[in-house]
Amino acid sequence: MIEFVSAERCVGCTLCVKVCPTNVFDKGEDGVPTLARQEDCQTCFICEAYCPVDALYVAPFAEPLDVSPQEEELIEAKLLGSWRETIGWGKGRTTLAELDTTPFIDLILPQRR
Ligand code: SF4
Ligand code: SF4
Repeated sequence: MIEFVSAERCVGCTLCVKVCPTNVFDKGEDGVPTLARQEDCQTCFICEAYCPVDALYVAPFAEPLDVSPQEEELIEAKLLGSWRETIGWGKGRTTLAELDTTPFIDLILPQRR
């Protein structure tokens, strides 16, 4: 579930507001999105993947955390934008698709005789 928006990092691009499939965010008056409907979050990580400045943290749980995370803790644990980094989105990163060596085509094509 989405847990944190960093006002320090956010540049107000509104990408997270636009890509969220369940309309969790509202545009904040200061440009920083608010978690207006956190309970509607589907833990899909799309917002975190799209945020260009690693300002978001989606926890890998369907329920909200008991205690809201603090920015310092998230930075220390390298969790802000960690999913975006994992899938290789962002300048200079290697995408999962580039790393994938699964021979899908070989598996689905009929075997030659
Ligand atoms: S994780 Fe998915 S559903 Fe949740 S706020 Fe982000 S985009 Fe919306
Ligand atoms: S995608 Fe990131 S930078 Fe853009 S509005 Fe959302 S939190 Fe801010």
